Amino acid sequence: MQRPHIQRTRGRNPLPALTGPAVILKDQRKHRRDDAQALIRNADTAMYHAKANGRANYKFFTEPMNAAATKRLHLESELWRALADNQLLLHYQPQIDLLSGKVVGVEALVRWRHPQRGLVGPAEFIPVAEVSGLIVMIGEWVLGEACRQNCAWQQAGLPAISIAVNISAVQFRSGRIEDNVAAVLADTGLAPELLELELTEGIVMVGANATVETLQRISDMGVKLAIDDFGTGYSSLAYLKKLPIHKLKIDQSFVRGLPDDDGDRAIVSAIISMGRAMHIEVVAEGVETETQQAVLQQMQCEHYQGFLCAPGLPTDQFRALLSKPLPLKAQGRHRPLNT
Ligand code: C2E
Ligand code: MG
Ligand code: MG
Repeated sequence: MQRPHIQRTRGRNPLPALTGPAVILKDQRKHRRDDAQALIRNADTAMYHAKANGRANYKFFTEPMNAAATKRLHLESELWRALADNQLLLHYQPQIDLLSGKVVGVEALVRWRHPQRGLVGPAEFIPVAEVSGLIVMIGEWVLGEACRQNCAWQQAGLPAISIAVNISAVQFRSGRIEDNVAAVLADTGLAPELLELELTEGIVMVGANATVETLQRISDMGVKLAIDDFGTGYSSLAYLKKLPIHKLKIDQSFVRGLPDDDGDRAIVSAIISMGRAMHIEVVAEGVETETQQAVLQQMQCEHYQGFLCAPGLPTDQFRALLSKPLPLKAQGRHRPLNT
């Protein structure tokens, strides 16, 4: 799988292969043309499963894959309808300053109000939207809606905070992201510094010049860039130094182990120190307990996000939260060294 099947062309890297072999057994054969169509369909289904298992991979077609493919196709057609019928909505999760207890930012999280199933979370539909390419339209809708909402809060006299929007790798590589960001900012009038794009390590660490240039141009517009789920991917620190990154979001899997897990403590502490040294803001994700909050304060982490303050909230509830500062426990509060 890893070697010569792909031709190396000048100036281009070889692409990793994905295949989905499928066979039709003699006793399952019907008509020659049906067989050929079934083979192609099955190979396609198997390739989808190979894709889901990562790059440079293969999967043989098996019958249960058919059920999964049917479910996926059904979900995909429902998602088209969801977009057309305005069934998507955003919830807003606050980001809290660990010194002042104030809401300093918000992350927009997409939800789907399914006519039969009620509220459906992104983990259930984003993967299908990514494979089908629908994520580009969903992502554009999320970006527009988040910026419009942030402007509306400001117009209502609420404190100006930055709104973070998750960008999928497929959306980032669609080639439309820069134009889309520029158009949304122009349409809504939102100050660029009040918009933040959350990207994963997988997006920013590919090392391609085009990626760096795109990130730089978005940053030059004044828009902030954050690395989401930091620590779970393969970040090259040397490369990170060259990128216009404003924020690291420590993945919740490390925060969950605080304060007892020595490994998690070491990782969280190292990310906070690195962020401070590189003048990159650090946000701890998934903070659920006061003990975790206290440890993060002692480690001089700047911000946190998590159920301890609030989950993603509907617009009105978030608006109410934004109007009042949150009390923080006084003990263990330390001002970061560089302030
Ligand atoms: P994420 O961007 O890392 O978002 C944080 C997720 O952790 C959210 O789940 C949030 O509800 C959850 N969370 C926050 N605080 C806590 C906590 O204290 N404990 C626990 N256990 N969980 C917490 P959600 O909303 O289900 O989103 C899951 C993922 O789906 C997001 O992870 C993001 O990768 C993706 N996603 C969400 N909205 C969008 C979107 O508009 N576009 C794209 N492309 N992806 C999105
Ligand atoms: Mg995020
Ligand atoms: Mg995250």
